[in-house]
Amino acid sequence: LFIAFEGGDGAGKSTQAARLFDALESKGLTVLRTREPGGTPIGEKLRSLVLDHGHGTIDARTEALMFAAARAAHASQVIRPALALGHVVITDRYIDSSVAYQGAGRGLGAEDVRSLNEWATEGLHPHLTVLLDVEPSDGRERRTAGDAAEDRLESEPDTFHTAIRDAFLQLAAAAPDSYLVLPAALDIETLAARILERVEALLGD
Ligand code: C5P
Repeated sequence: LFIAFEGGDGAGKSTQAARLFDALESKGLTVLRTREPGGTPIGEKLRSLVLDHGHGTIDARTEALMFAAARAAHASQVIRPALALGHVVITDRYIDSSVAYQGAGRGLGAEDVRSLNEWATEGLHPHLTVLLDVEPSDGRERRTAGDAAEDRLESEPDTFHTAIRDAFLQLAAAAPDSYLVLPAALDIETLAARILERVEALLGD
């Protein structure tokens, strides 16, 4: 089972990914929790390259290719092997983040970014994507309150975050069966319970 968490900056993805990881492990499942950009040594290097450069300094296509390169390694070296062993894989961000950030945010177009990533991952898709839908104004508060140290998008205007939010929602609306969309503003316990309930249904529990 392959599960992706998606959503804008400050949506609380990492918290919920950790909660789901713990819940599934305590059921005796073997679970791999990973993240993007990152997840492999080359992916972590690309992550630092992109994030350390600071917003706007890397050309949009270069950035999209770097994220896709990191994702290709992640899919082939980490996610596919774990799924082949029958493990549950939980990733914090995946293709939808590129469609939203590089496609909508940076204006490269959703379709081109989607097809680049289809190629990069050889069409590997999550069974379920949990979209934590964050209001841009709520996200701003959380981004500045939280671990914003490496968050280069903190200073982006709300319009940028609105474009990203809309792109995520459009992806979910196009394939409702493989998405769980929840308002990120719900409390942590409620979110964790709703997510676990959906995942248990997929596991046949
Ligand atoms: O998910 P996380 O907060 O660790 O992501 C690090 C940063 O990279 C965030 O600012 C996120 O918005 C950005 N990002 C991006 N394009 C992606 C994935 C993440 O700009 N495809």
